Amino acid sequence: MTGAVTLFRVVGIPVRVHASWLVIFGLIAWSLSVGYFPQVLPDVPVAAHWVGGAAAALLLFVSVFLHELSHALVARRAGLGVSAITLHVFGGVSQLEDEPGSPGVEFLIAIVGPLTSFLVAGVAALASSVTGARPLATAILQYLVLVNVVVGVFNLVPGFPLDGGRVLRAILWKVRGDLQAATQAASRAGVAVAFVLIALGVLRGLTGEFLGGLWFVLIGLFLRQAAAGSYQQLVLRRALSPLAVRDVMTREVFAVGPDLPLARVADDFFWPHHVSSFPVVEGRRVIGIVSIHQLGDIPQARWAETPVRQVMRALDDSLAAAPGDSLWTAFEKLSGNGLGRLAVVEDGALAGYLSLKDVVHVLGIRRPAGAP
Ligand SMILES: [Zn+2]
Repeated sequence: MTGAVTLFRVVGIPVRVHASWLVIFGLIAWSLSVGYFPQVLPDVPVAAHWVGGAAAALLLFVSVFLHELSHALVARRAGLGVSAITLHVFGGVSQLEDEPGSPGVEFLIAIVGPLTSFLVAGVAALASSVTGARPLATAILQYLVLVNVVVGVFNLVPGFPLDGGRVLRAILWKVRGDLQAATQAASRAGVAVAFVLIALGVLRGLTGEFLGGLWFVLIGLFLRQAAAGSYQQLVLRRALSPLAVRDVMTREVFAVGPDLPLARVADDFFWPHHVSSFPVVEGRRVIGIVSIHQLGDIPQARWAETPVRQVMRALDDSLAAAPGDSLWTAFEKLSGNGLGRLAVVEDGALAGYLSLKDVVHVLGIRRPAGAP
């Protein structure tokens, strides 16, 4: 996902936080400092309200992380790869590399999240019972109890891709024996839940609770998109997973050297070939990708003296694939790397080039079952 930075790794899984989390963190800390804490602790100094607000927002973040971590650990236990844990505005996502292999596994991965939230709430409740003499600590812990119960209950709502929707999908899958049909039904439930949330939000807004209402509408919109998206994703994934990058990549690729001036690249490569990006190769090694958009960042008068190296995007994992990678994995990178291109690299050398267009072309030929 673009706009996310990796904070740390836990058991080898990168934990990333979406840029939107920083804004939300600030908003939550602020609203607690001027709302919740002054209300429950009217007698302590204002500075303590702010300390409490920041600490509570941080612990909320930790709670969401523990919830996601429990999904990731159970998935890994079941032999599924977890490519990342990403925390965003409305909680988190554990990105699994494959669909769970059976309804039972799906059920366990889904249910452990809300159970973890309830467990954290229980621990916080216990802890708050022994902090009686420290009102600030007690107030923070009581807030934690509340938010973890809310996170646990909200995630149990039976709309895919919420945890409750995953539980529903596991049950339907078990009963009907068809993952795709189960996903379709659970996603429709997710869209329905989303509309209920939006309607409730509008209703709350009309009765004067404007901020609370807005929050419901936002969560509803988010869920609606996620529900519709996850069914399409399953269909795409089933169509693309069996194919390898080498089956689809372009093998005849023009590459440019890193020291070539932009003026030459424009005249000899971009204009005559009608291609919007090229891999950059130094010696035998692929070191980056240069796209026509990057040329636009440099005034044309300086193209003669600016080398490709200075504007190219250096090769990193988001811009590279191996010939044996599944086309689904490559597609996820293509759609998230902001370039829509991947250098296919074998032993450091350029083996081919893959564009979103190549993947779309394949989909046109092999129309996936159930695709809209
Ligand atoms: Zn969850």
